Amino acid sequence: MLNIRDQFPILKQKIKNQSDLIYFDNAATNQKPQVVIDKISEYYSKTNSNIHRGVHHLSQVATTDYEESRDLIAQFINAKSVKEVIFTSGCTEGINLVATILDKANYLKIGDEIVVSGLEHHSNIVPWQMLCEATGAILKYVPVAQDGAIDWEQGLELITSKTKLVAITHLSNALGIIPPVDKYITKAKQNGALTLVDGAQWVAHYPLDVQALGADFYVFSGHKLYGPTGTGVLWGREDLLNELPPYKGGGEMIAEVTFAKTTYNVLPNKYEAGTPNISGGIALAQAVKFAQSLDWNAVANHEKELTQLALKGLQSLDNIELYTPGVVPNGLVSFNVKGVHHYDVGTLLDQFGIAVRTGHHCCQPLMQQLGITGTIRASFACYNTLEEVEVFIEKLKKSLLLLS
Ligand SMILES: *Cc1c(COP(=O)(O)O)cnc(C)c1O
Repeated sequence: MLNIRDQFPILKQKIKNQSDLIYFDNAATNQKPQVVIDKISEYYSKTNSNIHRGVHHLSQVATTDYEESRDLIAQFINAKSVKEVIFTSGCTEGINLVATILDKANYLKIGDEIVVSGLEHHSNIVPWQMLCEATGAILKYVPVAQDGAIDWEQGLELITSKTKLVAITHLSNALGIIPPVDKYITKAKQNGALTLVDGAQWVAHYPLDVQALGADFYVFSGHKLYGPTGTGVLWGREDLLNELPPYKGGGEMIAEVTFAKTTYNVLPNKYEAGTPNISGGIALAQAVKFAQSLDWNAVANHEKELTQLALKGLQSLDNIELYTPGVVPNGLVSFNVKGVHHYDVGTLLDQFGIAVRTGHHCCQPLMQQLGITGTIRASFACYNTLEEVEVFIEKLKKSLLLLS
């Protein structure tokens, strides 16, 4: 993994107390390879210009680069058409976009139901709660038992003829669980419901084929895929996006505007009002190229090894609580130390240059089901090493001695 690691300049620095940085907060945002960093600088040094509207050279170059990025993303996720790839500011905006246009389309009425899982990130809960509030629809969720066990088969029973939408994570950010998304999509389709998959965590770890997956909408953020913050993608079925109303109004999303009436642009511009994050969108293509350069099987195996080593280390310590009974989590370990606040553990690890996340991970409803306020989460990326996991366990052991 060394040649991968070498591409990430941030990992080369010493931080707190001259320790090597051990970055295990990849589920919050992962680091950027040099090509992404260089592209942003190059864009502002050589190309900066507004896209789509200019006749001049720079505008044309920027437009071409931006649209080539869209083409590459379409290919990366195997979209049927490039028109199905909508640039957003991130996963959160993608979900809010879908919730807003479903509201505008009067898609839901009183008593209709939306089904989510108990694992969801706030951004795949709150927009649906707001939609329910606006329409009188009801939000149902697949419960998580206090020990973290989930009965997915029973959860499927929540999907009935009343269900209008199923929104589910492809990979949980808090526990590393992969739900049986295929089954939920199939059952939703049988009941005529739409489906949205939150791929924020999935895209950096596993290949994505939106056509094979068969959902109606798929969302992810660029910054969790080695790309810049403020970038993201909403993929949606072309016929559906054509049919649904626009989201924000403004420049770029229009065909013709008069004070009496406006007609809207075709996809994807219909959903892209205003000047977008141009440098980000262009640099996202470099992130995707980096991702495409990876041997994904090797990455999956490597991340599994990191996870298993971390689990083994945690299990060798006393008083550790884990939350995925019977399931090896994917790409992360989420745990607590009995009698110790997660924040205190995170603070001590930070003194050794180890970056983990502590808290509710934007999953307060999940934490409530587990009867806790948060966890300590170490989440891995392709550039992390087994040695780093060993140091993490060793320093955790040291921290626990300090705390006892
Ligand atoms: C990070 C994350 C989000 C939200 O992504 P933003 O980049 O903050 O918009 C949604 N769902 C999951 C599973 C996430 O990990």
